[in-house]
Amino acid sequence: MQLIEFRPEGIYCSVGRFYIDPWRPVELALITHGHADHARAGMTKYLCHHYTVPILQSRIGADIRIQGVEYGESMTINNVHVSFHPAGHIIGSAQIRMEYKGKVVVVSGDYKLQEDGLSTPFELVRCHEFVSESTFGLPIYQWDTVTRQNRALAEWVTLNKSNKRTSVFVGYSLGKAQRIMKAVDGLAQIHVHNSIDKLNRAYSKAGVALPDHQPKVFAGTPQISGHVHPGVRVKLSVNKWHHFPAFLVGDDHLIFTCFFPLYGA
Ligand SMILES: [Zn+2]
Repeated sequence: MQLIEFRPEGIYCSVGRFYIDPWRPVELALITHGHADHARAGMTKYLCHHYTVPILQSRIGADIRIQGVEYGESMTINNVHVSFHPAGHIIGSAQIRMEYKGKVVVVSGDYKLQEDGLSTPFELVRCHEFVSESTFGLPIYQWDTVTRQNRALAEWVTLNKSNKRTSVFVGYSLGKAQRIMKAVDGLAQIHVHNSIDKLNRAYSKAGVALPDHQPKVFAGTPQISGHVHPGVRVKLSVNKWHHFPAFLVGDDHLIFTCFFPLYGA
């Protein structure tokens, strides 16, 4: 029998009567991770990994009805056995496993096989059906190793520092920004856009340690001019903030033109 189907509201488990990452308001939403294209407002109840709880509360609202679970913890929802397993994409990201009458279906959400030092590493889950995201599934996308990427970032910051230049990074505020922070930890004082700081606070609430950093509040869009990482393909600059040795700017739009080609999923 068909355990899941695609409905206008999203991926639906008809036996369990719940949705996974729905895009329209439903009663019960199982959420793979906190990115905005997977976790939307308006659900009666949310179920996710417990690291994702403070992220959703910060992004959607402190008053949402939400329950957090541990990886591998098994529960039964209307006769369907459900569990969340690490997807390795961002902190708290999960693949959702459903089992009913011996049939196992896994919905991946976004996932990453490389370990990034922050997310719980991807776990391979045996199943009969696997619903896979594949944003960067085309063979044209070839990613360098995390170690080499991080070394390149660190070398670039060190070079800028010796030339008394501010290093600017543009990264998606949830996931990429924290990985970049970790890669340049200890090299310079880190200043972050307040949108990143807000999510960093959600990370600390979940018990995740991040490098020391200072929030930076912008009045409007930051005006940036100066030296940016070669992976950044948009014109950016920081003329007002030359004296900051490292600087992270979060912008949900810019990341798609900037860091995805450099950092992978
Ligand atoms: Zn995502």
